[in-house]
Amino acid sequence: MQTSILPIDENSLKISKQLILSGKAVAIPTETVYGLGANAFDTRAVERIFEIKGRPNDNPLIVHVHRDYDIQELVSFVPEYAKILAEKFLPGPLTMVYKSKGKVSPAVSCGLDTLAIRVPAHEGAQKFLKYVNLPIAAPSANISKHVSPVTAEHVFADLNGKVDVILDGGKSVGGIESTVLDCTGEIPVVLRSGLITRELIEETIGRCDEYVLKDGEKARSPGMKYKHYSPNCSTELFDCNEIEKALELYANCISVGIKAYILCDDETARAVRVKNVLNLGSDENEIASNLYLKLREGEEVAQMIIAVSPRKQSGIMKGVMNRLTKACKK
Ligand code: AMP
Ligand code: MG
Repeated sequence: MQTSILPIDENSLKISKQLILSGKAVAIPTETVYGLGANAFDTRAVERIFEIKGRPNDNPLIVHVHRDYDIQELVSFVPEYAKILAEKFLPGPLTMVYKSKGKVSPAVSCGLDTLAIRVPAHEGAQKFLKYVNLPIAAPSANISKHVSPVTAEHVFADLNGKVDVILDGGKSVGGIESTVLDCTGEIPVVLRSGLITRELIEETIGRCDEYVLKDGEKARSPGMKYKHYSPNCSTELFDCNEIEKALELYANCISVGIKAYILCDDETARAVRVKNVLNLGSDENEIASNLYLKLREGEEVAQMIIAVSPRKQSGIMKGVMNRLTKACKK
């Protein structure tokens, strides 16, 4: 199969719609990361997504819809607080989990009775979703467990020969996956942190809880339990208070000819003063936006990425730390 990267226009939208209607997957840009989308009503098409990615079949997918799509077609109950959050944050990087009406293929939610729905803000994603006018099940467009893609070229690197079309919508500005919020209970629960933080949600509707997976417990959001986002090279993660240790490892690697790079925020980059640095930037939005870009850049040049956690760890940085920890998990 020949994989084409196409700009988003009338021609590519037409081709994409034909592919979707014939049960194929299309890679699409969003403001968080690129997604690999298929018709959520078509079980075979959804199963193909799991096959293409090598994704474990108990890790459910998020359904993407355009801004005018009536989600009540798909879900049975939308609590009042969810309506307020949707009004404030959608379209945007917030995925909301509801009780499903069972209209989409059961393969989407891997047999759960809930459905995760997202309305992406990316203009290209909106055009595509409006054009196909179907709910599109879409995980990130990478091989399972690899670093999520934030450019069309990243998708190509992972899925060349496995998809027909990658719609090119430029660099995903958000840079980390959407916040996943369970809206099935009286109080919403953050299942995965992202750019819409728990603090922002609390400011809008009052209380919001955060789910912490305990050892031995069945994950409420199955994706949480997996190693994820990992570059194809060795990794080691240090706390920002352990810069000396990170530097020692760096020096040891370099002395025996191992190409090591330090991945860190701008403040640490200026403190360590080494040659091989993958600088994530200083502002928290910038760090989130650069995370996967730098991990992908890193695996191209480094044999060992020595990550140092950013200094700030609240708000958006919580989502960044969650990804960084999983990327460096052994
Ligand atoms: P990805 O597609 O790789 O961004 O992963 C989607 C994330 O959403 C995973 O962490 C899933 O576990 C989570 N998710 C999707 N559907 C549901 C659902 N119905 N209930 C809980 N979590 C979900
Ligand atoms: Mg993913």
